[in-house]
Amino acid sequence: MAGRKSVTVGTARSKPGAWATGTLRLGDYPDGPITTPINILSGAEPGPVLWVQAAIHGAEIVGAVAMLRLFQKIDTARMKGHIVGIMATNATAFRAQKRLTPYDGENLNRLFPGMPAGPHSRQTADVLFRTATGVADAMMDIHSGGLEAVVPFYGLYYDDGSAASNEARRLAESVGSEVVWASRDAWLDGAMYVNFTRAGKPGVIVECGGGGWLMEEHVANVTGAIEGVAKAMGILPGRPPRRKSYTVVQDCDLVFNTAGGFFMPTVEVGAIVAKGAVIGRVMNAHGQIVEEVRCPKGPAYLAALGKPYAPIHSGAMVAECIGVVSTAE
Ligand SMILES: [Zn+2]
Repeated sequence: MAGRKSVTVGTARSKPGAWATGTLRLGDYPDGPITTPINILSGAEPGPVLWVQAAIHGAEIVGAVAMLRLFQKIDTARMKGHIVGIMATNATAFRAQKRLTPYDGENLNRLFPGMPAGPHSRQTADVLFRTATGVADAMMDIHSGGLEAVVPFYGLYYDDGSAASNEARRLAESVGSEVVWASRDAWLDGAMYVNFTRAGKPGVIVECGGGGWLMEEHVANVTGAIEGVAKAMGILPGRPPRRKSYTVVQDCDLVFNTAGGFFMPTVEVGAIVAKGAVIGRVMNAHGQIVEEVRCPKGPAYLAALGKPYAPIHSGAMVAECIGVVSTAE
């Protein structure tokens, strides 16, 4: 990969062997700039650039905390190149602790590559996409279940058979999970990692945790995931935590309830379940079970599930079920 001496993102300019800080302007409030904090950690020597973004869904903060942990522990004398940390990728949603952009209700992770003079969130997507493709050799987008859902720990890449996609698979296999989602799902066409890959550079998503509760185990998983990808790119020394084989999943069904009430999951997130298996129940405000939510296909990897007793309206997204293509030995 390319060996960059220096990287500039917004007001942050890398310094050899040091941690540089600044901000990137993503748009404007009525009264001034909307910015995200930027951290750039650089090795003493030039090398590849890894772009890591957190909180594109504003309440999914695990990536920001994991990056700070990692930056605090890395010995930059043993590092080559740069890790660029985007701490509040959807800055207005991060401030509001909401999944979506407060101004327009948009899901920023469906709007890439963005529009330079389009509606609010598309302009933000454009700034992020142009900046990232301009400076980075690879990108990671860190997600969790946010406040309402829980997700297991896995890597995700866009599977279109291109060279960038093959490299993205190698990076997704380096995050430390045995589960890799090789996505071809059309509903993710506007995601950053998909468009990055289509632009000829590998992009991956890492998912971990959620439920409004950030556990040390989840921080450690994501810290390890960024470290693993940085090792796979040659930015950090050592080998990434690769496995002999992986559980590969593909083709995600989003599952919606029809009755309102409290959601009661009946299986663990990350489980592999059979078609038709009950994955949760809905209890209404009179204590009656009014719905059994079933997995629409199988065997399926349960990649997201509503948290226990989440109050849900009809048509809330309570689960993601992804078909299992092959299972790790
Ligand atoms: Zn997310």
